[in-house]
Amino acid sequence: TIDAAGDKAVIPTVTFADIGGQEIAKRELMEALDFLKDEEKVKDLGIRPLKGILLSGPPGTGKTLMAKAAASYTDSVFLAASGSEFIQMYAGVGAQRVRQLFARARRLAQKTGKQKAIIFLDELDVLGGKRGKHTSHLEYDQTLNQLLVEMDGIKATDGTKVLVIGATNRVDLLDDALLRPGRFDRRVQVDLPEKDGRLKILQIHTRNKPLAATVNLETIAEETFGFSGAHLESLVNEAAILAFRQGKKEIGNAELQEAIDKVILGEKLERKPRR
Ligand code: ATP
Repeated sequence: TIDAAGDKAVIPTVTFADIGGQEIAKRELMEALDFLKDEEKVKDLGIRPLKGILLSGPPGTGKTLMAKAAASYTDSVFLAASGSEFIQMYAGVGAQRVRQLFARARRLAQKTGKQKAIIFLDELDVLGGKRGKHTSHLEYDQTLNQLLVEMDGIKATDGTKVLVIGATNRVDLLDDALLRPGRFDRRVQVDLPEKDGRLKILQIHTRNKPLAATVNLETIAEETFGFSGAHLESLVNEAAILAFRQGKKEIGNAELQEAIDKVILGEKLERKPRR
C-alpha cells in the first residue's frame, strides 16, 4: 500500500516458518527480538534498548527473509534500503537520505499505529566501511555519521521505536564504530545451509508445486552441497520450467537433475570476483 506522502508501508507476510534451516540464526534473532516484544520487562531490568542487529553471511542465504520475518514477528512496519543507495557524488546527499529514511520509518510506525519499525540495510559495508580507508571521502563519512546519529537517537520523542537490521557478506570491512555497544551489538551469522537445511528449503519451495512420486528431495539435498537458499529456489523454479517445456504435469527427477547442473553451470559462468 502507498499512502498520500508516497510512503510504501510494507508489513511483510514472511514468517520464520518460511525460512528453511538456519535454526541457530533464527533462534538467536528471535531471542534478540523478544527484547523488543517484552518491553516492560526490559525496562524494569534496566536493559539497554536494542538498536541494531547485524546479519552476516554469504549472498542468498536468507538475510532479507530474516529481516522481513523479524518485522512480522514483532508486528513492525518494514523498510528496506541498500547501502549503495546512499553513496552520492554530492556532499550531504547521502546523509540526507539516511535522515529521510529514518523519518519515514517513524512516520509509518505512527500512521499504522504499530509504533515500531524495522529498517533493513542491505550491503551495510558499502555505507559503513572502515573510515580510515576513505579519509579523503568526506561525503562517505557524513553518511556513516548520520547513520550513527540516527541509531543513537532512536529513542524518539514521539514514542516510536526503530530497529535497524543490517546485512553484509563482509563483516571485516565494517567500521568499528558500527559494532560498538548500542549500535549493531547483536550479530547473527547466516551461513550456507547444511544438508538438513537444504532439505527444508527444498520442501518450502516445492510446497505448491506438483512433484512426481518418484522424487526424493533428500537425494536432491545431498547433491546440492554449497548451494544457498537462493540457488535452491532457482533450482526448483528451473525444474518446473523444464517440465513445462516438455509438456509434463509433474516435476520429475530428470528435470531436477538437469536443473542442478544448470544452477552449477550458471554460477560458473556468472562467477565474478567478490568485493
Ligand atoms: P543477499 O546477501 O544477496 O542480499 P540474502 O541473504 O538477503 O541475499 P535473500 O534475499 O533472503 O538472501 O534470499 C533470496 C531468495 O532465496 C529468497 O527470496 C528465497 O526465495 C530464497 N531463500 C534464501 N534462503 C532461504 C531459506 N533459508 N529458506 C527459504 N528460502 C530461502
